[in-house]
Amino acid sequence: MTLTTWPKPFQYFKDVRIFLITVSVIISLFMAAIYVLRYVTVNELLIQTVRHEATSYAQLIVLTRHWNARYGGVYVEKRPGVESNPYLKELGVDPDVRTADGRVLTLRNPAIMTREISELARKENSVGFHMISLKNLNPENRPDDFERRALERFAQGEREHWQLDRSGGKPVFRYILPLVVEEPCLSCHGRQGYKKGDIRGGVSVMIPAEGLVAQMRTNRNQIVIDGMVTIGILLALLYFLTWKLVGRLDETQKRLKHIAVTDELTGLKNRRQILEQMNKEYQRAVRTGGTLSLILLDIDHFKRVNDSYGHAVGDRVLRAVAREMQDGLRTYDLLGRIGGEEFLIASPGSALDEAAGLAERIRQKIKGRTISDRTGEITVTVSAGVTSLSEQDASADAILQRADEALYLAKQQGRDRVVSA
Ligand code: GH3
Ligand code: MG
Ligand code: MG
Repeated sequence: MTLTTWPKPFQYFKDVRIFLITVSVIISLFMAAIYVLRYVTVNELLIQTVRHEATSYAQLIVLTRHWNARYGGVYVEKRPGVESNPYLKELGVDPDVRTADGRVLTLRNPAIMTREISELARKENSVGFHMISLKNLNPENRPDDFERRALERFAQGEREHWQLDRSGGKPVFRYILPLVVEEPCLSCHGRQGYKKGDIRGGVSVMIPAEGLVAQMRTNRNQIVIDGMVTIGILLALLYFLTWKLVGRLDETQKRLKHIAVTDELTGLKNRRQILEQMNKEYQRAVRTGGTLSLILLDIDHFKRVNDSYGHAVGDRVLRAVAREMQDGLRTYDLLGRIGGEEFLIASPGSALDEAAGLAERIRQKIKGRTISDRTGEITVTVSAGVTSLSEQDASADAILQRADEALYLAKQQGRDRVVSA
């Protein structure tokens, strides 16, 4: 939007445009900050919900392992599909025992138990978890990059570690709880050099996060819509109120400007305005080599009108005379009241005889006009002095002076006439 297409009255007020743009930017930034904050908070809450879920899983696994470790592992019957844990042999433990009735039982230590539960969890509720170990016996327990970073953080004292992983095809929420060596663990892991309280790995949980990501997306879209609607409404309100206010200011300004240049009684240009415009026309005429004529008119014996009929009637007569003058003018003639009952016409482009003709027509019109009053009919006459710009005129005042002298002559010669000079 270019500035010239702004609806009125914004075109006129540079300050208002700057104000509007500044306030709009502040409102937009402020509201955007609020909504970004809201977005971040809601997202954080959504992530925390999934994190709680992950923590519960991990803690349950740790508890189950403790239960198992407390018994030094539990025995299950060995059958096809329920095989011995090969890694126990590496630790120097024979996992199998034979009962008196000839059945073979095999040891389910925490590690293999966890692996088996993990397979079940994956099948039944799509949550994945596994153990990660710093000195892994089982290659499946080797930490990936994310898990290794988590373990490094645990070494620095962090209590848990998570991340919403969107790098793969489907988004996954990954969570890792450190695995701390406790008393029962030492019976097996003591051999790897661990002491009680050491961190020897972690429980790594993976929760499918399509739902979470979808919720985050909904949250984002909702907040973008909310934010845009709110900012839109605020800006529209701001624009509307400013527009109203500026409209009124503009009206007031126009009214004040009108008052400043208008004669209150007759509605003609006031003294300052007509003299100013006369000066401009003088300069234009000098510049362009054109002509300019002035007509100075004065109502004859106007004091008598006031004395006989009162000041209010005098005012009515002044208004009527002003209207007669105005009606007799061409559009580019300028008319103003320069004194009590004295008027000035500046007629650009008119030669002396044309101006004299105009003055004469006005004189006759006014003479022919009667203004009725309770006590009778009032007629007034005017005298006029007419003159035109000549080469000797060094200023507009010089022409005006000559018009005044001509008017004086008209008065002297008996009034009710036009004298050219
Ligand atoms: P002359 O023919 O020599 O011009 O005589 P005149 O009586 O018209 O001139 P003079 O200057 O003696 O008197 C002008 C009068 O105009 C005096 C004053 O009371 C009256 N007048 C000036 N302004 C106003 C006005 O606004 N309203 C009314 N009603 N009278 C005004
Ligand atoms: Mg007079
Ligand atoms: Mg006078």
